[in-house]
Amino acid sequence: MDIKIKSVSIRGVNVPLNIPITSHLGKFTKWPYICLDVHTDSDIVGKSYIGPYLVEQLPSIANCIKSLSERIINQNILPYSLYTEGMKNISLLGYKGIGLYALAALDIAIWDAASKAVNMPLANYLGGNIKPIKTYNSRGLWLIEIQNIAKEAEILRNEGNFSALKLRIGRDSNKLDEEAFKEVKKGAGEDILILSDYNQCFTAKEAYRRCKELDDIGFFWFEEPIKFNEYTNLAKICRNINTPITIGENFHGISDLLEAIRNDACDMIMPDLMRIGGVSNWLKLAAIAEAYNIEVSTHLFPEVSSHLMMITPTAEWLEWVDWQNPILKEPYKVENGLLKIPNKPGIGIEWNEKTLEEFSVNLHL
Ligand SMILES: [Mg+2]
Repeated sequence: MDIKIKSVSIRGVNVPLNIPITSHLGKFTKWPYICLDVHTDSDIVGKSYIGPYLVEQLPSIANCIKSLSERIINQNILPYSLYTEGMKNISLLGYKGIGLYALAALDIAIWDAASKAVNMPLANYLGGNIKPIKTYNSRGLWLIEIQNIAKEAEILRNEGNFSALKLRIGRDSNKLDEEAFKEVKKGAGEDILILSDYNQCFTAKEAYRRCKELDDIGFFWFEEPIKFNEYTNLAKICRNINTPITIGENFHGISDLLEAIRNDACDMIMPDLMRIGGVSNWLKLAAIAEAYNIEVSTHLFPEVSSHLMMITPTAEWLEWVDWQNPILKEPYKVENGLLKIPNKPGIGIEWNEKTLEEFSVNLHL
């Protein structure tokens, strides 16, 4: 593909959340993003965003993206080759963390550019179909007061006729978590599917006890009951609990994924597009998950992740949040619990320039 990268523009933004996050990981009222435009010597511009959690770390990550992008100027938009070269360039950063986030941001934008160059949606370019994908609403139901849960669950279900919601658990007692579960059903209906997330809050012994006691109440899955990389302890929980255990948003690259699977540390996986290392690593993940016959759900980044689920043979749930919608000119839509992938070249996103300006963060580049 004889289209060359000419420059990369990197912008930071910190946008208000419609529902503030109160979780075991902290409280957030805004969510930070880094938005990339990879300019080429044609009229094609590859776009991507990553959401690296901590606004004060945006400049570090942006500078890492800048230094990686300087090495690919005047190179052809060949995403897999550039990813492989990029991995060599982050070897001294340990193939993980900030280096991997930065590489993922570039990788996603280059895949976007490459699929635009052949005028195909990313999913088609990768050999997959485009069809509506089942998605659950994950944008609310944090560790809020029990009496506010039913109302919020009703709102969350109705905004896209969702059939599944995620509830954050790990309250002071199992009794409270069970009450929260019942309140979701009360507000969203008996037929609503409830996915749960502990956000790594327990010690192994406590997680085991908590999961055991709540095993039969009907959660679709327990997510991250303990630290994601305590594989031996997770394997014990998996062996003894009927409800599936899922982990994956904290896998940094393919090696974490493989280690978890080889240790029988989860029943399902839910990798994060940024932390796994972008589109190039998702392709490997999809193959590994198929080989081990393990179901794949996604974490954040619903736009690119939905394209990738089209080429993931064991695809399960797509996670939907609205956090990124303000930075997008035309956010993807959800109808009847299904997210619609737009039939446009590439990922199909454009920036809402007004938001990028209004909530801009100085990246000190
Ligand atoms: Mg989670």
